[in-house]
Amino acid sequence: MKCARCEKEFLFEFHSVQQWLLQSKLDIRQLSFLIYNYGGPLCPDCEDDLQSGFYLWGTNPYRRMSGTTK
Ligand SMILES: [Zn+2]
Repeated sequence: MKCARCEKEFLFEFHSVQQWLLQSKLDIRQLSFLIYNYGGPLCPDCEDDLQSGFYLWGTNPYRRMSGTTK
């Protein structure tokens, strides 16, 4: 399978995207961001990248909703 982000070929070991979503180490916000922006699974490298950088980049579309409570 081709990574939707870096277009590298990688081994996609799940039967379906749904199953991958259930197994993924990414949280639901990261997954929905990923699906919304890339439309499909990413290679492990990109997954790691997304996971480690997600809350630093300021690209989280839910930040405004969750970050306003004190
Ligand atoms: Zn990739």
